[in-house]
Amino acid sequence: MTDCIFCKIATKEIPATVVYEDGEMLCFKDINPAAPVHLLLVPKEHFDSLAHAQPEHEPLLGKMMMKVPKIAEAAGLAGGFKTQINTGKGGGQEVFHLHIHILGRPV
Ligand code: 5GP
Ligand code: ZN
Repeated sequence: MTDCIFCKIATKEIPATVVYEDGEMLCFKDINPAAPVHLLLVPKEHFDSLAHAQPEHEPLLGKMMMKVPKIAEAAGLAGGFKTQINTGKGGGQEVFHLHIHILGRPV
C-alpha cells in the first residue's frame, strides 16, 4: 500500500527504531510510547486489520503471536507484558495496517 505508514517503515522509506525483523514481520518502537517499553509488531504484508485477515494469514498470525514473548523478553519484559490489537475505528485503530502493541515496564 503506497500511503501506508507501516508499509513504508517495513520498506525503510520511513525511519523507525527496529528491534526485530525477519522475512515476514518487523517490530519497532512506537513513536508515542504509552509505556516505558512500547513496541509495534507488524506483518510485512499489508492488511488493514485483524478483521481483514484472510485464511492464508493464519500461519503468519500464529508466528507473530509466538514471536511476541521472545521480543518482549529481549526488550527487558521477561517479568510480563501487555499486548493489544486495536481493530477498526470503533476499536481505536488509527493506523490501518495490522499491528500488535507490546507494552510493559522492565523489572
Ligand atoms: P493504533 O491506534 O492504530 O492501534 O496504534 C497506532 C500506533 O502507531 C500509535 O501508538 C502511534 O503512536 C504509532 N505510530 C503512528 N505513526 C507512527 C510512526 O510514523 N512511527 C512509529 N514508530 N509509530 C507510529
Ligand atoms: Zn501497510
